Amino acid sequence: MRVSISNKCIGCGACSTISPEVFEIYRNSAVADADKICGNEESCIDAALNCPVNAIKIDEY
Ligand code: SF4
Repeated sequence: MRVSISNKCIGCGACSTISPEVFEIYRNSAVADADKICGNEESCIDAALNCPVNAIKIDEY
């Protein structure tokens, strides 16, 4: 799974609350730690579904 965050992100922090292992807020924007996605897929999807501006893109492969 790959997680990417678009520049629509408003830094609200919802993703880092839902999936703190993967997401953190850096300079008012979310960043995802690619190395932590494995094992946290469900919370990543949850974060994407709850992003208010639809900035989190999930690619399954
Ligand atoms: S939930 Fe969406 S808008 Fe909020 S910080 Fe995460 S990526 Fe950005």
